[in-house]
Amino acid sequence: MSAENSLLVVGSVAFDSIRTPFGVRERSLGGAALHFSVSASFFTDVSVVAVIGDDFTEDDHQVFRERKINTENLQRIPGGKTFRWAGEYGYDLNTAHTLDTQLNVFAEFNPQLSAAAQQSPYLFLANIQPGLQRLVREQVKARFVAMDTMNFWIEGAREELLQTIAVVDALLINDAEARELAQESNLIRAARKILTMGPQMIVVKRGEYGASFFTRDGFFATPAFPLESVFDPTGAGDSFAGGFMGYIARSGSTGKIDDHTLRRAVIYGSVMASFNVEEFSCDRLRRLQAEEIQDRFRQFKEFTHFEV
Ligand code: AMP
Repeated sequence: MSAENSLLVVGSVAFDSIRTPFGVRERSLGGAALHFSVSASFFTDVSVVAVIGDDFTEDDHQVFRERKINTENLQRIPGGKTFRWAGEYGYDLNTAHTLDTQLNVFAEFNPQLSAAAQQSPYLFLANIQPGLQRLVREQVKARFVAMDTMNFWIEGAREELLQTIAVVDALLINDAEARELAQESNLIRAARKILTMGPQMIVVKRGEYGASFFTRDGFFATPAFPLESVFDPTGAGDSFAGGFMGYIARSGSTGKIDDHTLRRAVIYGSVMASFNVEEFSCDRLRRLQAEEIQDRFRQFKEFTHFEV
C-alpha cells in the first residue's frame, strides 16, 4: 500500500473491564482506536494517534507490532495511567451499560501530529472527546473523514460534538445514539436530521440487526452476519468502522467515492464486526486470515441476493 491509501485514526486506547452473561475479563486490551486499527490493518496501512500511560506494557504493544500498525503518533505519558472503561452487557448484547469511564492520560492530551500523519488522505475520528477529534481533524488535509461517537459525549459534550460532526464526510453511530443525537425516535427521521448537521452520509449500526446507510438521496441496508454465538460485543462498532474505512482507503478514490464502493464498505464493516464479537477483546482478529474475510464477504452476497 502506498501513502495514497494510508489511514489515520485518533481515539481511545484502553484497558477495559468487561462483564457479559458468558464471562468476565479485567484489563482487556481495548479502546476505540485499538479495535479500529486492528480491523482496518487487514485492508491498508494504518497509523494511530492516541495516548497511553506507562502501565501499557511491551506485551500490550505487541498487538500493534503484529498488525504492522504505525505508532509514531502514539504518545506515552510517564507516570500517567491508560484510559479505562468498565462496561456490562445483559442478554441483550446490543446495549452496553457503562459502569465507569476514567479518561486518565486523555484528560490532558494535546496531539501534535507528525508531518507524515498530517498528509493522510483518509482519517477516522474514533470515539473520544469531540474537542480532541476536531483538534486532529484540523491538522489533517484528508480526502475523506469519518467519525464515531457515543452517548457519553452526546450527553456530556453536545455543543463540541455538533462542531465536530459539522466537519466530517461520514458519521458512523449506533441506533440508540442516532435517536439521542437527533432527539427523534424514528430512525429514518433521525438519520435525515443528522444529515442536515453536516455529513454527506451516515451509517447506523444496529448490532445483531445489521446496519443502515443513508445519503441525502440514497439508502442501503444489510443484516448482520447470522452468528449463533456472540461472546463479547465490545469493539463491534469500531471493527465495523475499521472494515468500512479500511476498504474505502484501499480503493483509493481520488474524487467522490462511488455508491458501489460505499456499499461494499458497509459489507466489509459488517464482516469485520462479526469476527470481532466471537471472542473477548480483539483476540479473534489477531488470529484472522484474509481468506476468512473474503469467505464471509461472499456469504453476505449470497444471503442478501434475490431475483426479481
Ligand atoms: P464499541 O465499538 O462501541 O463497542 O466500543 C468499545 C470501546 O470503546 C471499548 O474498548 C472502550 O474502551 C471504548 N470506550 C468506551 N467509552 C468510551 C469513551 N467515553 N470515550 C472513548 N472510548 C470509549
